Amino acid sequence: MPWYEYDDESPAERRARVSSEIARRRKKGEPFVAIRTEVARGVPAKTFWGKAWCENIESYSDYEYRLPRGRSYLRQGNVFDLEIDGGSIFAYVAGSAIYDVEISIATLAKARWRALKGSVAGEVGNLVDLLSGRLGDGVMAAVTDRQSGLFPSPEQITLNCSCPDWADCCKHVAAVMYAVGVKLDSEPELLFKLREVDHTELVDAAGEGPDLSTGGAGAGVLAAGELAELFGIDLAEPEAAIDL
Ligand SMILES: [Zn+2]
Repeated sequence: MPWYEYDDESPAERRARVSSEIARRRKKGEPFVAIRTEVARGVPAKTFWGKAWCENIESYSDYEYRLPRGRSYLRQGNVFDLEIDGGSIFAYVAGSAIYDVEISIATLAKARWRALKGSVAGEVGNLVDLLSGRLGDGVMAAVTDRQSGLFPSPEQITLNCSCPDWADCCKHVAAVMYAVGVKLDSEPELLFKLREVDHTELVDAAGEGPDLSTGGAGAGVLAAGELAELFGIDLAEPEAAIDL
């Protein structure tokens, strides 16, 4: 049914319709796991990488108008099955219906990555420090720099949503942008995967090689459990309670 035929629906009817659609899709085998944040105010992320991602997005006026609605959409548990891959982000967002949000992010330019590695050479002690954001002021400034750092600028971001009120940045897309920040709290290495660079090279640049002391699968790979322990956070994601 086209969206405009839902115009006479009450909010409660809409919630019930979307909830039953989610239940139907779960039954078919789709996970529909909601992204949750425990941070009640302001930026929804709480670690260095998550907060830095959100603060980067907020620093551009391009998205300003939709960001507050996006934050509350995320807090209400409306973002599901977030996937972050090389150059791409995907999630479902529950609104008047369930929408597909796809965001493309340009790969970090090789020259920029090389320059960034050079600027932090000798400053990143090991992989755990890097991923947990235990970084010196110089490194933090370098990785978050708008011109030469790791985070994308609006011209490197292509937004897409299947909703009917699609504009340059709808609230669904804004919610997913914040969800990425929340995801980086527990899996900061996804930022590097997204920009298609190897984060262990930042440690290599310090001349020490990847930190293998954590007992991961070689090359400094941290298991989710180890990261959870490291950051003192619970990575288990509770079932969604839909509140549109
Ligand atoms: Zn949308």
